[in-house]
Amino acid sequence: MQVLKDLLVSSPKKIVITTHQKPDADALGSSLALYNYLKKYHHHITVVTPTDYPQFLFWMPGNNCVINYEENDYNRNYADKAIEAADIIFCLDFSSWERLKKVSNSVKNAKATRVLIDHHLDPTVEADHKMWYPLAAATCELIFDFICQMGDKHLIDIEIGECIYSGIMTDTGSFRFPSTSKKIHLIIADLIEIGVDNSKIHRMIYDNNSQEKLRFLGFVLNQKLHVIDNMNTAYIAISKEELAMFNSQTGDTEGLVNYALSIEGVIFAVIIIEREDAIKMSFRSSGDFKANEFASLHFEGGGHKNAAGGKSNTSYKETLEKFLNILPSYQQMLNAEYQSQPNLIPC
Ligand code: 5GP
Ligand code: MN
Repeated sequence: MQVLKDLLVSSPKKIVITTHQKPDADALGSSLALYNYLKKYHHHITVVTPTDYPQFLFWMPGNNCVINYEENDYNRNYADKAIEAADIIFCLDFSSWERLKKVSNSVKNAKATRVLIDHHLDPTVEADHKMWYPLAAATCELIFDFICQMGDKHLIDIEIGECIYSGIMTDTGSFRFPSTSKKIHLIIADLIEIGVDNSKIHRMIYDNNSQEKLRFLGFVLNQKLHVIDNMNTAYIAISKEELAMFNSQTGDTEGLVNYALSIEGVIFAVIIIEREDAIKMSFRSSGDFKANEFASLHFEGGGHKNAAGGKSNTSYKETLEKFLNILPSYQQMLNAEYQSQPNLIPC
């Protein structure tokens, strides 16, 4: 930390901050919190995202400076040059290179000092400095710690605070996941004390739905949600045509899988989405059922025990068939996990 601190405070540096594809509020929030903080040292900073991200994050302070790598050639060239020339590259909220998509080559080949700040399991990203805590609730929590460890807690202003608040709020499921520790509440208390408007941020992120997004949600819950009772599993599969029917935008499918998990008796929830380039899958589980193991064994993915993702390069139909064929081999495990959980409905 001291080496990094000396590097950051000695003189203005060329810095790149990057995060995972389709950034969520924690990925973008940690990137922009760090951006707003490092600006105070007059560094030259470029924030690069591998892809676009949902519009409900555009309000975040610093959003205007973000370069979306895949948007056009100008952005790609600009980002590649910044990465090549950088003294320091911060890699935030991801643990494997594939999550950087096409940005990964330039970052891997850059001569810059690399700093990884992340809370995902099994990091395979090599870095000169690592602030890696899989028990952290959010990368934004680690950015708060990072600023404190730099001795700069007093520099956390409303802009930085809003970004940090957003990432912690969303990655803790609005402060309800087990990761919501006392420390998290103390950080949030500090942020509210400096003037961060928690209620405003909640509205900006959760109450900015388009009509089409809500009608899409209605369609999915009504027609696409399937429950397999004897396997304590629920799944949703959405085709390209269905996405197009509702003019679905980046972010519109986020959180759908959680509805499936919220059904009484469901231990394992899966969503399969036919995207342009591949089939994207999200896995959610409760208790000890390891969604990340399922994802990595069968669908080239990984993640956390209760929240994981993966993909498939076969067709949409074949992917769904593969999933349904694999599932029965987990039946015993799923049933046992259900039996071991407290029964909320008295018999
Ligand atoms: P989501 O389902 O929200 O896209 O992702 C949930 C978690 O699963 C993420 O925080 C990330 O750790 C992990 N994840 C999602 N997609 C992938 C993937 O393709 N590969 C790996 N290794 N992890 C993923
Ligand atoms: Mn995160």
